[in-house]
Amino acid sequence: MTPNSPAAIGFRTELRQDGGHLTEPVFAARGSRATWQERAADLTLHAVLLHSGAPDEACARARGRTLVFAGELYNRDALHRLLPPGRALPGTDAALVSALFDVYDLHVFRLLNGRFAALVTESGRALLATDHVGSVPLYVRVAPGRVLAATEAKALRDAPPGRPVPARPVRRKTGTHQVPAGTVLDIEVATGKCVPHRTWAPPLARRILPEEEATDTVRRAVERAVRTRAGGSTPLVVLSGGIDSSAVAALAARRSAKPIDTVSMGTDAADEFPQARVVARHIGSAHREITVPIAELLRWLPHTVWAAECLDPDIVEYLLPLTALYLRIGGPGRRVLTGYGADIPLGGMHRENRLPRLDTAVCHDMDTFDGLNEMSPTLSAVGGHWTTHPYWDRDVLDVLVSLEAGLKRRHGQDKWVLRAAMSDVLPHEVVVRPKLGVHEGSGTSASFSRLLVDAGAPRERVREAKRLVVREVFDQVVVGGRHPDDVAIDSVVDAVLGAGVEPATARLSGAAARPVPR
Ligand code: AMP
Ligand code: MG
Repeated sequence: MTPNSPAAIGFRTELRQDGGHLTEPVFAARGSRATWQERAADLTLHAVLLHSGAPDEACARARGRTLVFAGELYNRDALHRLLPPGRALPGTDAALVSALFDVYDLHVFRLLNGRFAALVTESGRALLATDHVGSVPLYVRVAPGRVLAATEAKALRDAPPGRPVPARPVRRKTGTHQVPAGTVLDIEVATGKCVPHRTWAPPLARRILPEEEATDTVRRAVERAVRTRAGGSTPLVVLSGGIDSSAVAALAARRSAKPIDTVSMGTDAADEFPQARVVARHIGSAHREITVPIAELLRWLPHTVWAAECLDPDIVEYLLPLTALYLRIGGPGRRVLTGYGADIPLGGMHRENRLPRLDTAVCHDMDTFDGLNEMSPTLSAVGGHWTTHPYWDRDVLDVLVSLEAGLKRRHGQDKWVLRAAMSDVLPHEVVVRPKLGVHEGSGTSASFSRLLVDAGAPRERVREAKRLVVREVFDQVVVGGRHPDDVAIDSVVDAVLGAGVEPATARLSGAAARPVPR
């Protein structure tokens, strides 16, 4: 395995009772492809793997079972302790999961702290598994005698229709469903019968801890998550200068013998460069600033939807500046650490002092993140990089979600427990810096709004127009299979606003806006 990315970052697999197979799939993620076919029991497995140089390391074959694993594990040491004594330690994550499958069967997936999507096939079964938060999206199409799965919905575009399974259907993709977060689907290939097993759920109870114990617990959990993600090479942290990414950068820098790399993006409309510079200077990182002109940034919107396969306009606004950054980093593929997602378990977007509201927001966000694909590795894989998000580590998330709300909002500060946990590694001004979302700090939301208003959208309907633009782009690049280079955002906007060619699926009139709470 290269230190910069896992052995595989994506796949499409096809299990069939009869022989034939599909055409080559389209993926947004960049990577070398390995294609192979094998026979197991009375099934043929045809697989296409997106890999980083050693495809065999993403597969494990033992006792009539094949496991295909895209992604990586962060609790290898603990998992090693579960193997029978005297047994040689498996050299790859795929082999480790397979060895534990011998002992635990599908319950192995309750043991893993990782960022992955996996297929296991044995004895006429297909098991499809996501990590605790579904951070590597996984899609499935099932029919009697045939199970198709892929880490991008568009890779199943040419497949024949499938039947309903207990998972979320993908818009306008007949029979394609997304495997829920923290789930194993156990499918009998001959009949298509599918039984879901949840392997993780957000904690509902809240822990009461003294301040110091709470900050120590958070610090230890985040430190471990950064350490297990940093790998053997110099990590690159995407740094805004806010508390979340600055803490990740500071902890990564403390454990690195050499200066780490950091990068900040801004636009000609807005940036957080001065804030990020303070952190870069403090931790001694090799720091870069990348400015993306707003006109160019908005042109990457189709690529963002193509990569994330997301229909939520708010999420697309968060992901667009980061996608533009990943496309601009250049050079060989990097291992990228982010501060993404800390606000969700800590209620960081909710600035008022009332604790019931804060916990309501945390519960809501933890109930509704699934399927938004905010953490999809494809966002950076379009630029050839691998991202990983320490705040959505399984153990970090368990700690952060479960802290009582008064530790999250305290002494008049949001995310108090995280700020206090990092106060010795960052300058005070960084520790207390108020939240600024990436969509705000880069001017993305404002520029997208301006584009729509300039094109004739009434101001009070801008939100609705954004939703329709994103949906139309989704229909073109995910459902319709168009390459995002061929989708001009201006003509989508014109079409949606009814000024140009009328799109097949979305017009501004008649559609109701759905309030998105975060
Ligand atoms: P935020 O919306 O500010 O919570 O951003 C989520 C994550 O995206 C941060 O923790 C950073 O890792 C990254 N990020 C946000 N803004 C920038 C930026 N201007 N440049 C580089 N990375 C950023
Ligand atoms: Mg920010």
